[in-house]
Amino acid sequence: MAGCAASIALARNGLRVTLIEREATPRHKVCGEFLSGEALEDLQLLGIDVTSLGAVPIHHVRLAAARRAAEAPLPFPAASLTRKALDTALIAEAVAAGVRVERGRSVQALRRTASNVWQATLDDGATFEAATAFLATGKHDLRGHSRPKDPERWVAFKTYYRLAPAQAAELKRASELMLFPGGYGGIQPVEGGIANLCWVVQQRYLARVGYRWENFLAKMQQDCPHLAMRLAGGEPLLAKPISVTHIPYGYIRSTTEDGLYCVGDQAAVIPSFTGDGISIALHTARCAVAAFLAAEPAPLFQAKLRSALRHQVRLAEFAADGLNNSLARAVLPLCLRVWPGVMRVTAKLTRVAQHAAVGPMQLPAEI
Ligand SMILES: Cc1cc2nc3c(=O)[nH]c(=O)nc-3n(C[C@H](O)[C@H](O)[C@H](O)COP(=O)(O)OP(=O)(O)OC[C@H]3O[C@@H](n4cnc5c(N)ncnc54)[C@H](O)[C@@H]3O)c2cc1C
Repeated sequence: MAGCAASIALARNGLRVTLIEREATPRHKVCGEFLSGEALEDLQLLGIDVTSLGAVPIHHVRLAAARRAAEAPLPFPAASLTRKALDTALIAEAVAAGVRVERGRSVQALRRTASNVWQATLDDGATFEAATAFLATGKHDLRGHSRPKDPERWVAFKTYYRLAPAQAAELKRASELMLFPGGYGGIQPVEGGIANLCWVVQQRYLARVGYRWENFLAKMQQDCPHLAMRLAGGEPLLAKPISVTHIPYGYIRSTTEDGLYCVGDQAAVIPSFTGDGISIALHTARCAVAAFLAAEPAPLFQAKLRSALRHQVRLAEFAADGLNNSLARAVLPLCLRVWPGVMRVTAKLTRVAQHAAVGPMQLPAEI
């Protein structure tokens, strides 16, 4: 997401860009696939029309815990779209913008070999050199550029369901957040008449059910009957959920080296329940390109980005701690019934601030 966005913006500014993507074709990624208003704006700037890709508009957020559920309208436009569809469109846009896209090739190492040379070594031994590199490997760390360990050892899962018609009609245009001991999950409609079910859980809670996702799915439904109701009569569409581990929630990169701009999850990781990771990926890519075009050194950019995102990420972490608290789980839906404004305010405060779009500039440089 961030790598595509940065490369499109750079190519449109006349730069020679190579994008290295290890997947040969876009595939499912662990993601709730919620697109916040800010993400929609950034995608529009990139020339991606999510409506034509089949994105489902999302109007409400519904919170369910134990036997209670409450809903509130979202205070901004939002939509949902599978990552497969979105990533396909972004790669196509990058190619159209003139980016040289190397697919099915994995970067093994990225190191500075001279004061203004970054060298990427690929799995087949090939090397690429440039004065500037953008690190956008998302949830996957490159050796030598790792983020800190995730002390809670989160594990995230995603799958798709074709819900029973009555449940699909009830879910309709809502993104539902469900709370249970050890984590939380979300369900929402995506294009093609299906629903995305995504959840995160601390590893020690997964250990209690023998590390088996099917046992945990059953436990989630037991702890949150709302989810059991949604999935009743539904058909799982993947043989098993896809998963990812090591999610350092709350991480914000503070330093980098000259000529290396870190973007997306490599710059900051906000708790998933906010549905704001894609927006941050697009936003950090846009800001990094603006900094590069303005000849702002990468370490200065990274430090400024950290202070700009710190408040939002800390607040989201604070709210995530609340969601994982058993007392909060018991009373939250009740409170929201009498004060749905809480949800609106939380949704607003955990959004990334939008900045002016990057204007076109022509700089003779190679990245
Ligand atoms: C459980 C969960 C639910 C989430 N739900 C939402 C949501 O609903 N809405 C939202 O906005 N955000 C959500 N997020 C966050 C969002 O998915 C990420 O923040 C976002 O994808 C980050 O974008 P990125 O560009 O940094 O990384 P990615 O989109 O993950 O892209 C990284 C790319 O780098 C490639 N790559 C990795 N390593 C290499 C390598 N060595 N060489 C070459 N290529 C490589 C990968 O193949 C991938 O294509 C969720 C996250 C989780 C964990």
